[in-house]
Amino acid sequence: MPRHALRIHGQDRPPAGGQWFTTQNPFTGEDWAEVARGDARDVDAAVQSAHAALTTGPWATMSATQRGALMLRVADLIARDAAALAALEVRDNGKLYAEMLGQLNYIPQWFRYYGGLADKIQGSTLPLDKPGYFAFTRHEPVGVVAAITPWNSPLLLATWKIAPALAAGCTVVIKPSEFTSVSTLALAALFDEAGFPPGVVNVVTGFGPEVGSPLVEHPLVAKVSFTGSDATGRHINAQAARLLKHTAMELGGKSPNIVFDDADLEQAVFGAISGIFAATGQTCIAGSRLLVQDSIHDAFVERLLAVARTARLGDPMDPGTQVGPVTTPPQYRKVLEYLDIGRAEGATAVLGGEAGHAPGCGGGPAGQGWFVQPTVFTGVQPEMRIAQEEVFGPVLSVIRFKDEADALRIANGVRFGLAAAVWTRDIGRAIRMSERLQAGTVWVNTYRAVSFMAPFGGVKDSGLGRENGQDAVREYLQTKTVWLNT
Ligand code: NAD
Repeated sequence: MPRHALRIHGQDRPPAGGQWFTTQNPFTGEDWAEVARGDARDVDAAVQSAHAALTTGPWATMSATQRGALMLRVADLIARDAAALAALEVRDNGKLYAEMLGQLNYIPQWFRYYGGLADKIQGSTLPLDKPGYFAFTRHEPVGVVAAITPWNSPLLLATWKIAPALAAGCTVVIKPSEFTSVSTLALAALFDEAGFPPGVVNVVTGFGPEVGSPLVEHPLVAKVSFTGSDATGRHINAQAARLLKHTAMELGGKSPNIVFDDADLEQAVFGAISGIFAATGQTCIAGSRLLVQDSIHDAFVERLLAVARTARLGDPMDPGTQVGPVTTPPQYRKVLEYLDIGRAEGATAVLGGEAGHAPGCGGGPAGQGWFVQPTVFTGVQPEMRIAQEEVFGPVLSVIRFKDEADALRIANGVRFGLAAAVWTRDIGRAIRMSERLQAGTVWVNTYRAVSFMAPFGGVKDSGLGRENGQDAVREYLQTKTVWLNT
């Protein structure tokens, strides 16, 4: 079984405690790799290396143009290794290979975009009200960044943090999820191949309390950028607040996909399906609540089921597979529990509702791989737990609404606010809804579009701060004002 060491100071390093843990392939349920079980000593080594790179190493004295050029080089290396990186993540995460390849072909764009921005970060001179003084501002890197990522999209979500952080001149210590560490380690090695000085990008693998927590608390970490569940995010944010550290929190969602009776229904059916079943429902932006206007409710659900029924579960490496396994055993159990909760609350599973089976898969807690049938619940009331809580699986809750006001009340009536979509041909309605929906992203007649240049983040319990877009660099900068007595 391959063994994957920590990546610290440009080198593979065994963990200080000599411990390793295994990581499983969600399709077969079998162990496929060993990963270093880091602890506070490894965190300290990585943070010290990142801090030295930030303050004394060549990274600190390099021009922004040179830093940007290194980022362009790493983009090329990621593009070169796209297929291999995609295959690693499929093994760890169970995401479809075709989807991963698409992601890997797009990820280099983040490094190109932010690499290009690196030397466009400028301060300003101030039109002072005090004669005899001259003052200007400098935008400096905030410091060492702790990037803590979840298991559902390890490479993409690490990229959203690393690329703007490096453009700002920061150095990074990444703590990937214990369920999906391997692709992030492979990515980190490419920074060294591209010629980044040692210590600029480090990875410490292991568990939340053993690696994540000491990383958040390390005195030389200036900023914690976290993506994951809102429970962990709250815990980390409180911990970081006590130590006066900067934070960014990208948390969960319960996003509404709202279909009005004047929509292009064929498009809306595909939007609803890709909204919830892509990546087996394990995306923060999953359109897990489908709000359908009363007048078209039954016909729309029929059309949706006609397509959803044909979804093929299977090996994520097989190009014919449309829905892969759930990524982790605890998540598998959680999704099955929500299927029971939905039934107990009085919703009707008009599709699925049970553990799934895919031909050719082995092990797993159900003896059949970690598959859940794509599930559609109808008769869902807005206050039910399946309409309020993040399931993070292939489970769609269909809710009826009467009119715009009703749709808004239901859509905004959850504690999350990550994304929302509106399907309508009425431009006025599209604008009214996009103004009033409580969400960081609103899509009109589409779902799931993201780009390196489009700001992304949540309102309410979905998080704090924004990733992507030009402003994301600001999240990794602090302003210094310099006064001169002339
Ligand atoms: P999680 O909160 O369980 O874990 C996320 C990371 O935090 C992991 O690396 C984990 O090891 C680490 N961690 C756990 N305890 C910690 C602690 N005490 N201190 C420091 N680190 C700790 O989340 P998950 O189950 O891996 O991911 C799924 C969640 O992520 C979902 O809620 C999903 O919505 C959310 N998510 C959000 C976005 C977004 O951009 N808003 C994107 C993807 C996923």
